[in-house]
Amino acid sequence: MHAVAEFMELVEGAGALPQVRVIQGPSSEPAVTIDGREVLNFCSSNYLGLATHPEVKESVVDAVREYGVGANGSRLVSGTTDLHIALEEATARFKHTAAAVAFPTGYMANTGTIAALAYVPYFARMAGLPLASGAREMVVLSDALNHASIVEGCEVARARQVHYEHCDLDSLEAKLRQNEGKRLLIVTDGVFSMDGDIAPLPGIVGLAARYRATVLLDDAHATGVLGRDGRGTLEHFGLEGGADILQMGTYSKSYGALGGFLAADRTTADYLRVAARPYMFSGAVPPCLAAGILKAMEIAEREPQRRVRLLRNRDYLVYGLQELGLEPLGSGTPIVPIIIGDDDSAAAISDELFRRGILAPCVRWPAVARGQSRIRLTLMASHEREHLDRLLEELAVVGARHGVV
Ligand code: PMP
Repeated sequence: MHAVAEFMELVEGAGALPQVRVIQGPSSEPAVTIDGREVLNFCSSNYLGLATHPEVKESVVDAVREYGVGANGSRLVSGTTDLHIALEEATARFKHTAAAVAFPTGYMANTGTIAALAYVPYFARMAGLPLASGAREMVVLSDALNHASIVEGCEVARARQVHYEHCDLDSLEAKLRQNEGKRLLIVTDGVFSMDGDIAPLPGIVGLAARYRATVLLDDAHATGVLGRDGRGTLEHFGLEGGADILQMGTYSKSYGALGGFLAADRTTADYLRVAARPYMFSGAVPPCLAAGILKAMEIAEREPQRRVRLLRNRDYLVYGLQELGLEPLGSGTPIVPIIIGDDDSAAAISDELFRRGILAPCVRWPAVARGQSRIRLTLMASHEREHLDRLLEELAVVGARHGVV
């Protein structure tokens, strides 16, 4: 315990403990209440504004009445209800895949899938099954800025993890060449959670075909957002169909709830149900949430104007920031980070914005590289112009005081 206490003292002394603000009431609305005071919320992933939609809430409440609160078991034991099957079928239909597997969270979808893919030879050996395709080691080629759940998935799998430079196809190809002949898995976020940019997927898919690699696409932030019908990064690039791509996604962002999924061919999906440990050994998504997510997916498809509004809000904000002389990162996604650089300045700007009624968190090391501290803004379809104008006004004042605008 001594090491833990000492570590915490050091972190606290460095002022690096994250400040968690307690939101009174719903956390997903453009305006939220903290310490009895209304502040504008620019850090929710409720991109389409569906988390508190009356029809979604009604579906959840109806399902609670019928199914109770939880699934009370893992998917393999007693946790699979007709609502889980309906959710997986709707997800597969939406993602244009043969099947989908619902996990308790997106984080678990990533860790479970990566580990299960790496374990094939190990499982075969354990079961005494000769693998005609060979028991080759799996090497994971992972973008340097991939989400923590991907990094952890590789660690849990004890798979060799090779990082390529962020969104750099030359770097990826060099690593693929070095590992030719091995079982290769390329993993990339579709939209990067801290930078808000989009992976160069056509190039990645091309390289995957050339080097016989499988692609695992983490579309947590792209699902419901990118592409003509919100199907994600593949649709954004017109890559649907044909490609050997496993699509991970989450129900915790555009669909306003909780839970993750892996959409894939049927064989991979069937394999995950008997090999992905978070699917097998953790309680299932509560059926009432499955009902709410199904309704949210239906509304998202029925009301494409939500996605249009979201991206229009994004364009409006980015234009306003540029007018202020700021150069936000990101490209066509609801994640708009403003690099400040220095940890203390970023924290001070975020604190001052909060005092002025704006919730705009600062993200610092270890979530991002040292010296890359940032104010990370996220937008929702439910933000109104007046919310964005207020944000821009406050940023102008606070930014000027800190010498960033
Ligand atoms: N991947 C990415 C890129 C994410 O940003 C997140 C959520 N922060 C996850 C995976 C995990 O999803 P979930 O919240 O459903 O666990």
